[in-house]
Amino acid sequence: MTEPISTSEVVFPGDRLSTEEEFLPARNVYVENGVIYSAVFGKASAEEGKMQVNSATRDIRKMKRGMFVLGKVVGVLKSVIFVEIENFSINSEEFIAGKDGKVVLMAPRPMHRGMHDRPPERSRSDSKPAEMGDVILAKIIMEDSEIFTLSLRDPEAGVVYALCDNCGNKMQLDKHGDGLYCSECKITARRKVSSLYDNSKAIEELLLRNGQEHSE
Ligand SMILES: [Zn+2]
Repeated sequence: MTEPISTSEVVFPGDRLSTEEEFLPARNVYVENGVIYSAVFGKASAEEGKMQVNSATRDIRKMKRGMFVLGKVVGVLKSVIFVEIENFSINSEEFIAGKDGKVVLMAPRPMHRGMHDRPPERSRSDSKPAEMGDVILAKIIMEDSEIFTLSLRDPEAGVVYALCDNCGNKMQLDKHGDGLYCSECKITARRKVSSLYDNSKAIEELLLRNGQEHSE
C-alpha cells in the first residue's frame, strides 16, 4: 500500500494533484505545464505511480444554506472570523464545502463592568466568539460564489474544541458554562461556547441529522 499525499482526498475540477514527474496522469485528470489537475469531482487516488480521480459525483453533495458545518478558525479580524470548513461524510454521501466560511461580527458593544475604571484592555474586553485555531460548529445562512456566511446564533453553534493559548492543553467548560477554562494555567477564556462542546458523539449526530434533512 502506497500512501501518497492526495490519496482519498476529495477534489474539485481544476484542483492540482501532483506533477507529471511524481505520477503518470491516468483517469479523469488533465495535464498543464507538467502539472496534473483533476477534471472531475471525486476522490483522488495515487497508486502504482498513476494519478487518477474516481468520479463520485453521485455521492457528493454540496453544503448548503441551513446546514450545520464544522470548521476551524483560520483568521480573526476586527469584524469577521474566517473559517475553514471541513468536509464530512455520512454513510455513502460526502458533503463538501468547496469554499471557506466567514462569521460576521456585530459592532462591539461596550461592556458595563469596568468600563470607566481603566482603559480597555484589548485582550480582555475585545473578546471574540471564537479565536484562531478553535474548532467551531456554525450554521450556513448565506452563500455566494466566494464564501459561505455562517451564524453562531443557535445554541449548538459556537466553539466545540479549543486549546489553551498559553500551554496548548484542551480547554474545559468553565463551571458557569459560558466560557472555557484551562485547569493547568487557571485561566478563563471567553468564547461563544457550543452546547455540544467537546461532545464528539453529539456533534456527529447533529451533522448526520442535518445531512439527512438536506439530502432530500
Ligand atoms: Zn493553559
